Parts: sequence; structure tokens; C-alpha cells
Amino acid sequence: MKKVRTRIAPSPTGDPHVGTAYIALFNRCFAHQHGGDFVLRIEDTDRERSTSKSEQDILGSLKWLGLSWDEGPGCEAGAGPYRQSERSAIYSKHIQQLLDNGSAFRCFCSSERLGEVRKLQMLDKVQPGYDGHCLSLTQEECETKQAAGEQHVIRMKIPQEGECEFEDILRGKVNIAWSQIDMQVLIKSDGMPTYHFANVVDDHLMEISHVIRGEEWINSTPKHILLYQYFGWEAPQFCHMPLLRNPDKSKLSKRKNPTSIRYYEAMGYLPEALLNYLGMMGWTMPSGEEKFSLAEMEESFDISRVSLGGPIFDIEKLDWLNGKYIREDLSDEEFAKRFAAWAFDSDKVSQIVPLLKQRVERFSDVVSLGGFFVDGQLELGEVDFQHKSIELSLAAKILQFTLWKLEEVEELSRDVVEAELQALAGLLGLKIRDFLFPLFVAISGKAVSTSVIESIAILGIDITRARIRHGISVVGGISKKQAKALEKEFRSL
Ligand code: GLU
Repeated sequence: MKKVRTRIAPSPTGDPHVGTAYIALFNRCFAHQHGGDFVLRIEDTDRERSTSKSEQDILGSLKWLGLSWDEGPGCEAGAGPYRQSERSAIYSKHIQQLLDNGSAFRCFCSSERLGEVRKLQMLDKVQPGYDGHCLSLTQEECETKQAAGEQHVIRMKIPQEGECEFEDILRGKVNIAWSQIDMQVLIKSDGMPTYHFANVVDDHLMEISHVIRGEEWINSTPKHILLYQYFGWEAPQFCHMPLLRNPDKSKLSKRKNPTSIRYYEAMGYLPEALLNYLGMMGWTMPSGEEKFSLAEMEESFDISRVSLGGPIFDIEKLDWLNGKYIREDLSDEEFAKRFAAWAFDSDKVSQIVPLLKQRVERFSDVVSLGGFFVDGQLELGEVDFQHKSIELSLAAKILQFTLWKLEEVEELSRDVVEAELQALAGLLGLKIRDFLFPLFVAISGKAVSTSVIESIAILGIDITRARIRHGISVVGGISKKQAKALEKEFRSL
């Protein structure tokens, strides 16, 4: 039997998401349960959105959770390199194979033409997709266009009729009509492969036997299976895991719940408790025990017992479990040690001390002045936001605009935060002092404290976001309708 090899293939385009860790956990358990390997591959073909900071954050967060990989960045083995941006030559070679055997074709359509086609399809209420315009180009015509330097992409051919049927480990037979599937671009005009192409080539070359991923990829699977056929390769087995959900059943999103693993780290959750909690998403131990370690889960894991009902990521339940870990697993000494390591992280302390030193007279002033650096959710009431010229609705607007602005920037350094907030205050026609008032309260709990700009840079986006959102709800919240109007105003600034 083929060796079991699974993988997690994150794209480094944002915060390290709890959903990535959830999928990584189940892949690792499945591989290890079968004595196989768990591979980590970085899918950074989207050069505009991929950042090395995001990659570092994803790798660091998985390590923090204890989800180490058997092969991948830092654990190179024969199947590397494990970053798609370093595998360009492999994709060029493979796309040629598909062009040669007639299963892919060059498409010279301009984006204007594609836009027109799409518009007409929308009007006709038909499935939007490429209309096959360039399929009829001859080899000579393509060569002439290429020689003239015309930009083009490479697309895959898709059958006109019938359906794709595949077996999903959790769902059984899945049937999707080919008419639903677009002639996917495989190579973009800049020569970079798309996710679909690089993903299939790499899964094959890395000898991945089981693709276990989120259910949002089900509709892409027919394209992937077809690519395996075009190459004459055996496809791996597919398993689409249910998506994590907010308590209101909507898809887990950072608008409703913190989704960055860094947030949970900054809030002082234990990695082993968070990992255990992610293991409870769709999975229960045969014994029914809710508290289990990674080793225990790996030992008794059985993928066929994963339940498809959308697992709810509920912070209250996580709090309960984390408290249980703290009480049952940490001796007093360990508690003290781990608390100190978390609260007095040397990197953070070295940034906070200069701010405190300027303002305290005794060490006993430190907690009341700087306690908010290690606090979680602050205890705030409407009265804390009372101000002579900033009404509560304006406070909500300032907080919301600030959040949108800060979410746009890649790295929250002091200078960046300062420049962004200054500019925003100017655009709103407010004195910076007044503008910063609700931020001081939301971030530090007080109207006067260490510089709120520096504090935001130290606390980072995850805690900042959570505090600003809490501040907004304390001043009365923003309704959906108001949010729409505010967003319009924000975009027009
Ligand atoms: N790069 C994809 C992602 O970011 C991987 C999806 C897959 O596992 O095939 O989710």
C-alpha cells in the first residue's frame, strides 16, 4: 500500500487563521495514525498578496500550537522546495506537457472582452465562465500572436457535457456537472501558475495520498481530478472537512469572532487547550472525553467518525476548556512560570518599559498605568466615553474608521500608526487630541495613559481589533445600516 502522506498548504496572505490550524491538526492526525508523513507547503503564487510576514506568522503559530510538520520549510526532504515561488521551473515544464497533449490552450482574450462576456452571461442568467473563444486558434495563429508580444494566459479544457463524479471520504459520491466548471486559467499572464495548477502538480510530486481540506474547495475538485487525468496520474483521495462556524452558524469570520491564532496567544490561552478545542471541531474521542492531548487524538483518530454538521467555534466553550487545563494540568510552579513567560515576554517588555518609565514614580504605579498591556477585554461603560465635544456616535465612528484604517496596513509600527491616525483625524476635521480620546479609552481603559499610538503598535492588530470592537459596542454599537453608510463615507475619504 502507498505510504500515507497528507499536507497543509496555506497561502501566506493574512493572519494565521484558526481554520488553518484546524485543518493542519486533522491532516497530522490522519497521517500519523497511519504511520505516514504530514507535509507543509507554502502556496505563495499570488505574488501581490503573499508576504513573508504572513508566512512567518503562520509557521510560528503552528509551531506554538505544537503542530510541527515532518516535511516542509525548515525540515527539507526530497520533495522540496516547499515554497511554490521556488518551484517555477517545475510548473513551466508541466504546463508544456498539457499544451503538447492538447488538454490546455493559450487564451489571448483581453480583460475587456472577458468583462463583456460576463456581463452578457449575467443578463442571460447563465453560469458565468469563459466562452471558449480562443479554443479555435491554430498553432500558427498562437505563435504569431506570441511573437507580436500579445499577453496571454493558459487555460485548461473542460468537457462540454456530463459530470464529474468523485468519492469524498466523508461525503461519499459527489457529482458536479461539467457545465458548472469554468475553463480555469492554469498559468497567468505573468507566467505564474494559479493555485489549481500548482496545487495539483505539487500534490502529485510530493506524493500526497490524501487531500484533507476545507469544504470550500469541493467545487474545485473536478478541475483537479481532470488535471490528474490529463497528466495520466493517479489522483489522491479527497476529504472535505466542514467549515468552522460562528455561534450564529455563519462561516467563522473575523468580523464576528477573533480568527487569528495570534489573538488567542495574546489573550493568554494555553496552546494545548486551543489545540484540544480545535480537535473537538467535528471530532469526539471514542471514550466521549472532551479533554485530550495531541498524542491521544493521533492515537485514536478515525476520519470516518468526523461529523459533517458545521462545528461551532464558541469562545465560551474554549474558555471553559482552557480553565480546566489551567486547574488540572498546571502545578503552581508551572502556572507561575508560564504566566511569567507570557506576561513578561522580553520583546514586549522592552517596548513597554520606556513608556512606563517616563510616567511612574514608584513600581507600585506600574499596574494601574500599564496593566492594560496584559489585560484581555477591558471593563468599560458608556460613562468612560463621555467627552465635552465627542458624542458617543462620533466616538463609534472614530473607532470604526480607525479599525478599518489599521486593518489596511501591513505592519503596525509606531510611525505607521501615527501617520495613519493623524491623516484620519485631519480628514474628519478633528483635533488629534479629541480624535484620540475614544481610542485611549478603548485601548487602555482610561482617558489618559501611555501614548495610545505606541500602545497600539505594541499590542498588535489582534488585541487592538478586539478592544476597538468592544469599545464600539459599549458606546452603543453600529447597526448594519449605519455600517454601510459609514463604510461608504470611509471609502470616499
Ligand atoms: N492554498 C490553499 C489555501 O490557502 C490550499 C487549499 C488546499 O488545501 O487545496 O487554503
